[in-house]
Amino acid sequence: MSTETTSASNQAPAQSFEFQAEIKQLLDIVIHSLYTEKEIFLRELVSNASDATEKLRHLQLTEKAAHDPERALEITVTPDEKAKTLVIEDAGLGMTGEELVKFLGTIAHSGSKNFLKALQEGGQKNSNLIGQFGVGFYAAFMVAKKVEVFSRSWQPEAPAHVWTSEGAGTYTLAPAPEHTARGTKIVLHLKDDAEDFSKKWRVEEILKKYSAFVSFPIKLEGEQVNKVQALWLRSKSEIKDEEYTEFYKFQAHAYDDPRLRLHFSADAPLQIASLLFVPKENPEKFGMQRAEPAVALYCRKVLIDARPKDLLPEWLRFLKGVVDSEDLPLNISRETMQDKALLEKIGKTVTSRFLKFLADEAKSRPEGYDEFFKEFGIFLKEGAALDWTHKDALTKLLRFESTFTEAGKTTSLADYVTRLKEGQTEIYYLVGPSRAAIESGPYLEGMKARGLEVLFCTEAVDEYVMNNVREFDGKKLVAADSPDAKLPEAPKPPAAEGDLTDEQVKDLATWLKETLGERVTEVKASDRLVDSPALAISADRMMTPQMRRMMKALKKDAPDEPVKVSLELNPRHAVIKRLHSIRGSDTDRATLVAEQILDNALIAAGLFEDPSKMVARLYKLLEQA
Ligand code: ADP
Ligand code: MG
Repeated sequence: MSTETTSASNQAPAQSFEFQAEIKQLLDIVIHSLYTEKEIFLRELVSNASDATEKLRHLQLTEKAAHDPERALEITVTPDEKAKTLVIEDAGLGMTGEELVKFLGTIAHSGSKNFLKALQEGGQKNSNLIGQFGVGFYAAFMVAKKVEVFSRSWQPEAPAHVWTSEGAGTYTLAPAPEHTARGTKIVLHLKDDAEDFSKKWRVEEILKKYSAFVSFPIKLEGEQVNKVQALWLRSKSEIKDEEYTEFYKFQAHAYDDPRLRLHFSADAPLQIASLLFVPKENPEKFGMQRAEPAVALYCRKVLIDARPKDLLPEWLRFLKGVVDSEDLPLNISRETMQDKALLEKIGKTVTSRFLKFLADEAKSRPEGYDEFFKEFGIFLKEGAALDWTHKDALTKLLRFESTFTEAGKTTSLADYVTRLKEGQTEIYYLVGPSRAAIESGPYLEGMKARGLEVLFCTEAVDEYVMNNVREFDGKKLVAADSPDAKLPEAPKPPAAEGDLTDEQVKDLATWLKETLGERVTEVKASDRLVDSPALAISADRMMTPQMRRMMKALKKDAPDEPVKVSLELNPRHAVIKRLHSIRGSDTDRATLVAEQILDNALIAAGLFEDPSKMVARLYKLLEQA
């Protein structure tokens, strides 16, 4: 619908039109939303300018000469503080009068369609949707009370027009013969509360944030704002290491050199190009703040979200870089990218690729991988424990020191499995503050005697991780000091003089249980011991020393629950034999020794808590010595 009026600025006739109903609805939301990130209007207009320029470049390759062939393919942004305007000009393919009406007056050709759809589905959250989706060209009305679009199509004979609107339901179209340059010039007459966008520093800030990698030069007062290339879209073979490093520093605001990088693209199931970096250091080391997701999401070089929360799993929060997906056909706009399911799909693909990359690194550059693991293994452990989607791949990437590795060297679970003893169905580990601490405890003796390998779990999270991962390659992960460990028969040492008979051991155990009372749930002969007289096993399998410490920290003022353990004896040990021999004749001393054996076992188990009685007892024992 149109009516003839007379334009005030020139005497040529201007036609007046009404926006399509959907556009009216859209404008209403855009204008009245209190959305804070109004700045995205510039991202939208610059990406339109870039799209139009890209299309022109294509045309120039395939079609006859376009109008104004010498014109440089760049985008100019001109803020004018005095006039309170912002002008965005491109040398793209431009629009004819008809196209102006069709593209800017109806919804059919706009990505804004998706916005309206999401709005209908999403209900209330209008204002947020704008920021997420962008609303294409109409975002201009968030900041402008009047928008003029001057456009001259690439088609040689097409006259130029100016499209004008105040966003209130109508727009006009008039000839604009003075606009002779090919392309589109958008003049925003800024609203009073949007005057900031006529300031150079503000405009520069926004351009650098969202449009840093746009393919064509963006010029602001003669200076190019976007100087770094979108490396992720270039072919790997053309890119030098220094370029990657420079890009990393720029994009991630980093000062170090990256430790690892992965540059890949995929076509199926989704079209993705990605450039990922692992920094030199773990950003959460030394109790620093929890890292925020930092892999930015782009669509065709235009920033969608610098810190997307739903793209990658949380345990990948140490990664830097870019994921770009132009999965959608060109005429559908990038707004749809914010579709959550799609984001998840992209994230899954990227995560799988990254995990495969790590597996390859571990194979081809094991030393580099070990260093990476030392710094970032904690994130992989978190993932293995919590991320069911990627658990298997992550578990394969874990590394531990073990009784079969030198100090400082590690093994994978897969390698552990290749060394299983005949009949071994479990993977054993021991938790402790350090390798040395675990090695000096009694729990390794029986494992060593059986030739079983034990992993050293020395990081605070390890116990939690092992409990969550539970098994690998069909083998259960079992703590070697847990009552659950099903150890195969140990080779019997040769009988020696003075060995206790089974009957004597049983009597001694019964006596010990009576003597130690509440503190032990059970006393029995052990097959885990070689060099130590006794060991303690937490009676409650969940209440490991680590768990106990944590519980204590949580309920500081609650009275201590007494530790309850099952005590296992080494009947061949001299101390035990001696205890047996004095138990009848020197009950007092035997009682002291029994209590001391229990305390020693508790110390080794990390369960010993009250030294006051022990000191007095030790003096008594020394007196008698
Ligand atoms: P989208 O970019 O998602 O298609 P927009 O609302 O941003 O939606 O733009 C609507 C349409 O207007 C575009 O598809 C394009 O055809 C046209 N258009 C917008 N800006 C320009 C421009 N600077 N040059 C040429 N055409 C443009
Ligand atoms: Mg657009």
